[in-house]
Amino acid sequence: MVTDDACVPPLTVYGGAANTMSQMLFDKHCPETDAACCVWNPHAVQSLCTGMLTAVVVSMCCSVACGQPTYRGLPVGTTSKQEVITSLGLSPIRTGNADDLRYPVAGSDSLTDRLYFHADKLALVTAASGDDRYPNRQAIEDIFGRPEAQVLFQTQQYLDYTEQGLKFICATDGTTTGIVSFAPQKRRVPAGGPNVSIDLRRRQPHARPNVHNTCLIKVGTAERSIAPTEFDNLLPQGSDVDLDLAEELLARVVVFERNGRKIVFAGLDVFGLGPWDVDRLRTSLATKGFANVIVAMSHTHANVDTIGFYGYYPEQYAQHILAQTEAAVLAANANLKSVQRLQTGTTEMPLAGGRVIDLIRNGRDPGLVDPTVSILQAIGSDGVSLVNVINLACHPEVIRLERARSLSPDFVGTLCREVTARLGGQTVFLNGALGGMLTPDTRFRTNEAATTMGSALAEFVVTAAQQAVPCQSDILSIETQSIELPVTGESVALFLENAPRPIEMHNGRIRTDMNVIWIGEAQFITVPGELLPDIGFEIMQAMSGRLRSIVSLANGELGYLVPNFDFREDGYEERTGPGREAGEIVRRTGLKLATQSPRNP
Ligand SMILES: [Zn+2]
Repeated sequence: MVTDDACVPPLTVYGGAANTMSQMLFDKHCPETDAACCVWNPHAVQSLCTGMLTAVVVSMCCSVACGQPTYRGLPVGTTSKQEVITSLGLSPIRTGNADDLRYPVAGSDSLTDRLYFHADKLALVTAASGDDRYPNRQAIEDIFGRPEAQVLFQTQQYLDYTEQGLKFICATDGTTTGIVSFAPQKRRVPAGGPNVSIDLRRRQPHARPNVHNTCLIKVGTAERSIAPTEFDNLLPQGSDVDLDLAEELLARVVVFERNGRKIVFAGLDVFGLGPWDVDRLRTSLATKGFANVIVAMSHTHANVDTIGFYGYYPEQYAQHILAQTEAAVLAANANLKSVQRLQTGTTEMPLAGGRVIDLIRNGRDPGLVDPTVSILQAIGSDGVSLVNVINLACHPEVIRLERARSLSPDFVGTLCREVTARLGGQTVFLNGALGGMLTPDTRFRTNEAATTMGSALAEFVVTAAQQAVPCQSDILSIETQSIELPVTGESVALFLENAPRPIEMHNGRIRTDMNVIWIGEAQFITVPGELLPDIGFEIMQAMSGRLRSIVSLANGELGYLVPNFDFREDGYEERTGPGREAGEIVRRTGLKLATQSPRNP
């Protein structure tokens, strides 16, 4: 096994001289520790590297004697790494992290059990292998009673028994497919709260609709490079790091038009953009006739920080991104084409082991992963797709830029390219409720691993497309709700006070917006930050579109939007988000928008 120094020395790529602010802000999420990491902040290393594991280990309510979870008889929380290796008698699968041991599941080529260690003790197991004690939901309920919380997906169920140190994934028929074990904690979801039982299943299958005879929607698409044209100004003066380009960075744009109304999705391979730049782009496009523009940032961690949040704002590059995006929108608008029909499809990735194995897991709340992959397609008069608008939730952070030193869209590049190759048209990627902390489950942090992940995700998108159903409606509707979020999160408040560009604040509140968009039977709700899945599930439950998509980092990247019932004062997401109130405001607004009726122009 290769040991991966999960928390490498900071301040090589973005930092320059660390001032007080950048020390506060220089922490970047570090997937393989499941942690708020440490890569960028020397002062954060010790407190943050433990990240999720700390969260798992603290608040133990119960000792081994009263029923500590076990994995193959080994108690979680107390068993040492050597004891695990000796006892299992197998060689773990090689990974890039010495504290991440994976063992193949007997009888399967692809499934693994994943064992995490913290301070040499087995801290968390996400197992896809069976356990005789828990063969199905009924057996689990016979032992533990009703789950503290559950999410019912179309084909899978997530059962939360945090007080027992257990979570389960079951298939529709109840068969257990995943077991997450950790030291028991206090209940995460309060009894009686709206998140105790989320049901995302369709009550009844939709009747197969009659296809609308004439679809009045037109679609134009374009893409433009948003890679830097020069690499000298991406880092602060004096930085001796050389960056180059591993893979093209793109603005992927679609314009939907119906009776003069236009709605634009611009999917960008950026880490983020500051409110001043998002506003500048949207204002400029508004003067050219595009009043409804959704700037959807992929959040790739393999591009530089174009917000300036980590201490350096590469102004020239940020302006280049805006100019290229605007050019892409104008180009897309110049090639509007008739649409024969719209169609939507969704599929679910398997949550065996409480993660989509080798693809997506939750580093903050293990097991809580949205398995949904969705696609909206506009089919042209020749029967070929003009656009594939795809949505799933995960941080594009396979690649570690501070090590790779080459800019990349991460898995999003391969994903979009392969979807286009398979389905035709222009693919536009919209990230979902990825906050806290949906992150890649890959074993390595390389360009190759990102490519592999993109290809695997493309397969699921193609599956969703194969199951797509024509839309009965050709509605094109957008409602925008202006919101003000109080900025009380220390890091974000400090950053905005000293932002690279002046920003309008109203009594400590920042103004932004959320949108509900209907395109045929596809319903999108946009969120100006990184929404945690708890809130995403609740909003999706209230949505009525055949296709229900949350679009995170849309027209704003204000950080993590955390549900108030799970606000952990010193948590990573909490410190890098707008604060305690913001999640609740977004939740309430999302629930309201979810039920708003669409209106054609
Ligand atoms: Zn993030």
